[in-house]
Amino acid sequence: MGKCELCSNEGSRMEANHKELGRIMVCQDCWVNLYDKNRMTCSVDASGGSCSCCSCR
Ligand SMILES: [Zn+2]
Repeated sequence: MGKCELCSNEGSRMEANHKELGRIMVCQDCWVNLYDKNRMTCSVDASGGSCSCCSCR
């Protein structure tokens, strides 16, 4: 539990690798938002090894 580093909502957070901000803890809404807008770097861990979230390859 804690505060989202983007919108300051309190609640459960998820780790995101933001392209500008680095590793931050955000709420699920912000995480999905970042994911949709492709603002995260490769989430290789979450996707099991293949990067489908950005054009790093
Ligand atoms: Zn948030």
